[in-house]
Amino acid sequence: MPGRTDFSDPWKAIRFCPGCGAKGITVRADRSVKCGRCGYHLHLNVAAAVAGLIEDESGRILLTIRAAEPMKGMLDLPGGFVDPGEAAEEALAREIREELNLEAQRSSFQYLGSFPNIYPYGNIAYRTLDLAYRCSVETFATEKFSQEITGVKLFSPSEIPLDLVGFDSIRSILTAYLRSTEVS
Ligand SMILES: [Zn+2]
Repeated sequence: MPGRTDFSDPWKAIRFCPGCGAKGITVRADRSVKCGRCGYHLHLNVAAAVAGLIEDESGRILLTIRAAEPMKGMLDLPGGFVDPGEAAEEALAREIREELNLEAQRSSFQYLGSFPNIYPYGNIAYRTLDLAYRCSVETFATEKFSQEITGVKLFSPSEIPLDLVGFDSIRSILTAYLRSTEVS
């Protein structure tokens, strides 16, 4: 396909003004594109996403198995993109409900930190900032998963296979969590 690039930053691929269709749109240093004809100025900002680290009663961590690309078949944490107007905690509770059919207890949410990520999808490298939370669910009894995942696995912290985790940010979240729980 002519002109098609692999997982390009989106601001590099825009050649026509999304506002008026004019050619020769300028890519600026702040990752925005600006049209000299109509003044349309599109900022391609980092997207907010959430990830939940759920432990069972014996301290095992729940990891999901991705059903689709990107990172099909790899391990992941439950989570996803934050919708417009949504708080991160609302997004995480919603994603846990949608993916796992489980109810997360909002009072249990404990912020772990933010982790930059690149999410390759449809030949675009989306830049995200993943907000990570430790959280509890009312019960682990679920057999109904969304189509986004093929199932879940529970791992003791020392047994998490980090090389089978798909995204850099998720691996960083797990590494930070493991470091924080290390007994010194
Ligand atoms: Zn324009």
